Amino acid sequence: MGSRRPWGAEKLNRMHPLPFSLWFALLMFCRCVSASEFAHITLNKEPNDHLESLAQISDSEVSLERTFLSPAHRRASTQLRVWMEEAGMETWVDAIGNVHGRINSSNPDAAAIVIASHFDTVLDGGKYDGALGIIVGMAAIKHTVLQAAQQAGVDLAGSIQQAGAPVPEAARTAAQRTLRAPLHLVAFSDEEGIRFKSTFLGSRAVVGSLVPNGMLDAQDRQGQSLRKVLEAEHAAAGKGSRPAEEIAASLVLPPQSVKEYVEVHIEQGPVLEGLGVSLGAVSAIAGQTRLWVVVNGTQGHAGTVPMRGRADALAAGASIISAIEHICGGGPDAPPASDEASENEMLVCTVGELRVWPGASNVIPGSVQLSVDIRAKADMLRTSIVQQVKADITRLCITRGVSCSVAQNHDAPAVLSDAGLVQDLVSAIRTSQPLLQQILPSGGEAAECTGPGEQCKWGENTEENDAGEALASSPSACSGQGRDVPVLVSGAGHDTMAMAEITKVAMMFVRCRGGISHSPLEHTEPKDVAAASAALATFIAGRVL
Ligand SMILES: [Zn+2]
Repeated sequence: MGSRRPWGAEKLNRMHPLPFSLWFALLMFCRCVSASEFAHITLNKEPNDHLESLAQISDSEVSLERTFLSPAHRRASTQLRVWMEEAGMETWVDAIGNVHGRINSSNPDAAAIVIASHFDTVLDGGKYDGALGIIVGMAAIKHTVLQAAQQAGVDLAGSIQQAGAPVPEAARTAAQRTLRAPLHLVAFSDEEGIRFKSTFLGSRAVVGSLVPNGMLDAQDRQGQSLRKVLEAEHAAAGKGSRPAEEIAASLVLPPQSVKEYVEVHIEQGPVLEGLGVSLGAVSAIAGQTRLWVVVNGTQGHAGTVPMRGRADALAAGASIISAIEHICGGGPDAPPASDEASENEMLVCTVGELRVWPGASNVIPGSVQLSVDIRAKADMLRTSIVQQVKADITRLCITRGVSCSVAQNHDAPAVLSDAGLVQDLVSAIRTSQPLLQQILPSGGEAAECTGPGEQCKWGENTEENDAGEALASSPSACSGQGRDVPVLVSGAGHDTMAMAEITKVAMMFVRCRGGISHSPLEHTEPKDVAAASAALATFIAGRVL
């Protein structure tokens, strides 16, 4: 816990005849009590409250739905700005709807540590996907600002004793003089790509890859292009009329202004839960290819066209789906978990969207469109599987007398995290334990080490012992090499992939129940939210305080 420096022993002993050791003990006690008070608020209560509040901001009354620039998306943007300002940041919204929060350092031109995630959701989504990373980032930055202010000698007594209390101006000013690098939080406006069938619009805007990827001409279901949206947003912000290319250029964060990028995200998979740990670091994100397949057959009457003469687009589509499953090692004929190469390379292939025309029970389908999603850690494997899938589609379509086209809508190479950042995240997760112990309501049990290099034994997990369970679910400090903090590969794509184009990146994953995501059943325990906030605050403090 950083806080103002204890006075020297000489001065203390001159002030009062009490022995120095007693003064020191009293001083440490006071420091712990006050630090733990605001840490509990900033790293536990506020992030958990904010996640609940943000989940209420939805375009649907019955589910969570917040897509790019929808009314709820704009309300969420306003709310995020309010919280960022309470956390001591200056804020602005750019023309693509990204919400920025920033606190400068003693050298405002220094490259910033960028923390980000996204605040759009899928349809009928969960509370934590994307939102968690923004809220945890906000909590960690607020905590760091308050710590910096304390280090600078600002008296925070009485000013931050309840959730939602803004960082006092004096603390903000003092923190800016103290921080060694600016902290820049970005809430990306679009990651899920629901509206434009795109990926990472918000982060791609920030790295300058909207125009090179031809995304300005992407159209939504109403036929409106991203180009028009950008121009309209720019004009609505009172900045006049400019061509979309110029607006896109103005959204870019210059690479030299970014020191590194860290994103906190729910795992969206079952590994951390299986290991019984709250947090892990991410060493790589699998590469991904998305195909869009159109199959055109011959539409006809279901009762009059003989089976032998048919060119059924849906039957052809079904054989394509089965072939893809087989190529990627799935289906009933798949070797039982024996295909180690596929397992290791995390090869996964999915047809998740199917459109059938005309979609009537008494009509032979005339046209089918389907999506194909192919992911693997190794780019060479993914590229080779994409070629096999395309070749099989061509072969099957010829065999079935239908015509097919395959468009490659998205192709992202695997992204490797920066090894140093991963190690620092691992170390922050480990060393944040005492802080976490302070901020969880019932206190925590200390880890019991059985000897050098051995694993820790933790207290029993009980409902009454939140901290004990959180400690049990976090890495021990005993092995000393970070072996006990899981380091994972992400099968899901994240904004981190786009940010890797301009800077060093790494991610921290947070356990989610059952590995479930993109669902209202998505859930992360409040104590895991606190664990992530404490770990990220520890990581940031190590860099700027
Ligand atoms: Zn996400």
